[in-house]
Amino acid sequence: MAERLLIRALKGGKSTKIITLSGKKLTKMPCALEKLPGLRTLHLQNNLISKVCSEVHNLTQLTTLNLGNNLLEEVPEEMKYLPSLKKLHLFGNRINRFAPGACDGLQNLILLNLNNNQLTWIPEEISRLKNLTYLSINRNQLASIPRELCFLKNLSELQLNHNQLICIPEEIKFMKMLQKLFVVQNSIEVLPEGFCDLINLRVLNIAGNIIRIFPQGFQNLKLRECYCEENPLFLKQPVRAEIKQDVWSLQEITSRFIMNQLAENSPFLMQAIEGYPEVRNTISKGRQCSICGKLFLTTWMECVEFVSPSKDWKISRNLQQIPLRVLICSFNCFNQRDSNLFGIAKVQSE
Ligand SMILES: [Zn+2]
Repeated sequence: MAERLLIRALKGGKSTKIITLSGKKLTKMPCALEKLPGLRTLHLQNNLISKVCSEVHNLTQLTTLNLGNNLLEEVPEEMKYLPSLKKLHLFGNRINRFAPGACDGLQNLILLNLNNNQLTWIPEEISRLKNLTYLSINRNQLASIPRELCFLKNLSELQLNHNQLICIPEEIKFMKMLQKLFVVQNSIEVLPEGFCDLINLRVLNIAGNIIRIFPQGFQNLKLRECYCEENPLFLKQPVRAEIKQDVWSLQEITSRFIMNQLAENSPFLMQAIEGYPEVRNTISKGRQCSICGKLFLTTWMECVEFVSPSKDWKISRNLQQIPLRVLICSFNCFNQRDSNLFGIAKVQSE
């Protein structure tokens, strides 16, 4: 049947630019496609196609391919033979993997839509889609984002709603063009500090996660819209708590001494530390106290500061005050805090 449907197109010969064969119950792609090397747009959505035929090799000028709502189980390897492809729709299939090499030839791809599939992971090779601007993988089963995804420098919109993500990689800071990020209904607990480097981010939707607090600097983002309904955000509800004396471990005392000496450019220590990579590694994890400015190793005290969001932000109702994470080195400093800072937990390892 598909062949018959194509006859009219074939009469048009090489000049045929668009073919629409959606909802025709096709179980495979029509072989006659190979006779249409000038084809630019191919709509094959809402069929029963489970495999991409090898005839697509000839479609070197194809810019849009819609295979949405079919029966594919992988992002097909044949995609690498479509060097002109700009828009690829694969939503509503049964895709659970990328075929090896699938990302190899798609150098011009701008849009990739993988919504409503069964992906549990994204391969590192995604970083080869250098021109990708719009990526949508809503309603899959992703448990993580590979850091390589963050190397897509041109990505301006990323949609990962309704997955099982528990975190966002620190490398997200490399996505300097990112303007819109949607991670609704996942299990994200913490936004990385690198998040605050997303200078072009304008729309953020993190509704339906388990975020309690935002990284310091979040309030300076140039957002236009920020939605965070259904998150257990810290609210400004002070509760009296008993304050105990600081007891530091020997490692903490030593690390603080070394880190603060290094910060003052102590030449003796700077030279000595060269020979101890494990010490350098440990102290590279040091953090700075928001009160006294000194460095410490373990998160001695996590506090929350409430700031009002910028008037330019369109916000969800639960974000009248942004809870920001503030780290403090000791109870001594905690006692010198200003009235807008609250202690929330004592996180202490060893
Ligand atoms: Zn301090």
